[in-house]
Amino acid sequence: TSSEKEGKVDVLIIGAGPAGLMTANWLSRLGVKTRIVDKRGTKIFNGQADGLQCRTLEIFDSFDFAQRVWRESNHMLEINLWNPDADGKLFRSDTIPDTIPNISRFQQVVLHQGRIERFFLDSIAEHSEIRVERGVMPESLEFDDSKAEDEDTYPIKIQLRHLSEEEATPKQSATSSNGAGIQDGLFRSNLTGDDTGDLLNTARLADKAGSTEIVEAKYVVGCDGAHSWVRNQLGYSLRGESTDFIWGVLDIIPITDFPDIRMRCAIHSVNSGSLMVIPRENKLVRLYIQLTTTDKLAGTKVDRSKINPDVILASAQRILHPYKLTYRYCDWWTAYQIGQRVGDNFSLRERVFLAGDAVHTHSPKAGQGMNVSMQDTYNLGWKLGAVINGYCDRSLLKTYQSERRRIAQDLIDFDHRFSRLFSGRPAKDVMDEEGISMAEFKDAFVKGNMFASGIAVDYGKSMIVAKEGSAEDQGDGTADVLGSAKREGAQSKPELATDIKLGTRMPSFKVLNQSDARPWHFQELLKSNGRWRLVVFAGDVLDPKQAERVQGLGNQLNKPSSFIRRYTSHSQSLDSVIEVLTVHSSPRKDVDVFDFPPIFRPFSATEGWDYGKICVDDESYHEGHGEAYKNYGIDPKAGCAVIIRPDQYVSWVGEMDDHEMMDRFFSGFMREQKESNAQTIDAPADMLG
Ligand code: FAD
Repeated sequence: TSSEKEGKVDVLIIGAGPAGLMTANWLSRLGVKTRIVDKRGTKIFNGQADGLQCRTLEIFDSFDFAQRVWRESNHMLEINLWNPDADGKLFRSDTIPDTIPNISRFQQVVLHQGRIERFFLDSIAEHSEIRVERGVMPESLEFDDSKAEDEDTYPIKIQLRHLSEEEATPKQSATSSNGAGIQDGLFRSNLTGDDTGDLLNTARLADKAGSTEIVEAKYVVGCDGAHSWVRNQLGYSLRGESTDFIWGVLDIIPITDFPDIRMRCAIHSVNSGSLMVIPRENKLVRLYIQLTTTDKLAGTKVDRSKINPDVILASAQRILHPYKLTYRYCDWWTAYQIGQRVGDNFSLRERVFLAGDAVHTHSPKAGQGMNVSMQDTYNLGWKLGAVINGYCDRSLLKTYQSERRRIAQDLIDFDHRFSRLFSGRPAKDVMDEEGISMAEFKDAFVKGNMFASGIAVDYGKSMIVAKEGSAEDQGDGTADVLGSAKREGAQSKPELATDIKLGTRMPSFKVLNQSDARPWHFQELLKSNGRWRLVVFAGDVLDPKQAERVQGLGNQLNKPSSFIRRYTSHSQSLDSVIEVLTVHSSPRKDVDVFDFPPIFRPFSATEGWDYGKICVDDESYHEGHGEAYKNYGIDPKAGCAVIIRPDQYVSWVGEMDDHEMMDRFFSGFMREQKESNAQTIDAPADMLG
């Protein structure tokens, strides 16, 4: 029709759940022209995911909204395991910490997905013009393969359809006597078929002039959940299996005499199934309840109409017996069938990407899906920004699949083990092979906790992780993510920082700002704004030899030919692509910022020297001593240098002044700017301290 609009964008995101919002959030900081659409008319308001791992909170903090989550959420400190004794009576058999102590400055919390989506929307709006366009869904996708490698082209054409308000509102199932008017999540459950086709059909029937538009995009990110339309368009599928176990979920304010209702609990009954308790914000408690009575239904098509809050509550009461449980208020409920599936392909020619539930689905009990989905696009977002803004080669984008597919596979394997232990009946004794040994269950919980925290993520060798060993070849050519790290060998010396692990996220300890003595957790300095960091652990700068090394590095970095200047354009500030952060180990009071080379504290004509980048490992007035050198395993005399990616993962560790190796590392994937930032320091000559 004549009112059909046409437009071009750098990135079109399909789906505004956690994965899509994290993508938009990154791009909102990087100045990338982005649109994000979702077929639903509103964001979700209750139910759905709620658990946030400590790594996810670190990521939120790097975007400045972790404090909102931290304040509103329920904090989970302890896990209690309840099991039947010899007489079949439930007792508290074990207690373990919910988050492994000292792995992060955050611990696991719970807050429902609707609030988390709210924080994303606010954060995106604060940093950009990007707004989620609701009631909009794609109906066709064309890809011009011949343009895939030509960076300035728009190889993807998508037709978008605008839905009416009614079409964009999910249907609710009829509820029980106990549950009239309660929101349910069945429309998003895997017990329900996908409604994408129906929605498109109704919308086409109601076709109004101007209700479609064509968008040309450089990149598309499919964050459209487990039924992913984008994935189907690419002809990709998820591989894996479903089990027969059906679980119900109730978000209620419980009325009960069970003493651990405000603890996270795993409860195994003798033969009525298992139950998991997740204490939530606002007195809510989420119960995950195994529905043993529906087992017969599974395998065939599950009859949704047989599942309602009454049925789920009755199962919970059987499991908890002799404790009593009921409720007056139910916030939300749903049911799902356990299954684990993972996609074999995460992108089409690094132009159309898939992320989140679109490439991995599993059971929700381990509280992983939302976290891993957001972490997928936390990995992808900065890479897209770096390529679109012309800082990095397109080949960088291959590291998305090489890094995230293995995580998805690990997640599926983890969930498979965890679910089996959860859904199984407790063993009666050691000879009972069909039953689940409770020692094994506890062991899995303890081990699973490290995985579940998100801290254990360890990316393999690639052009952006200068590790020993070979890159992970997934049989699809991703081995060339090695880049020039292989050709020219940008080598790390991990022994210089024995507790910083290449490929993992930078651990955090407190350091003091040299200029104002304020303590900071080191990670707080690693904001997600697209910058790489060169962290100079300058060592003992009172030693003249060491001071000379530091000055030597400063001189090299300041040369017009240095990697920092080559990769930064003349229109940007010198710290906007690669930022130098310094942590020295001399006493704070014996040193001042002007003892360090000017490039460690770049000068701006309007704001003078930057006092935020030089820190010291010393005692604070009120918060103790962070002992960063000791905790990182760095020699306090000689120091070392660490290169950290824009997503806080460690790329390279080497000698403090080895600028040649640093240069070699960055040359593997960075692009020289046509008009580079070649001028030497801007400061007036009389201020060049
Ligand atoms: P979704 O959240 O599914 O978002 C997809 C979005 O795309 C939706 O907004 C949808 O409307 C939109 N969309 C779909 N198709 C189209 C289309 N064709 N066009 C336009 N838009 C489209 N995870 C945890 O980490 N912790 C938990 O505690 C947890 N608990 C859970 C409890 C339950 C009961 C359930 C069901 C899930 C739970 N999960 C949990 C999993 C978590 O909800 C998902 O893994 C997560 O939401 C996936 O995020 P996503 O952005 O990939 O997909």
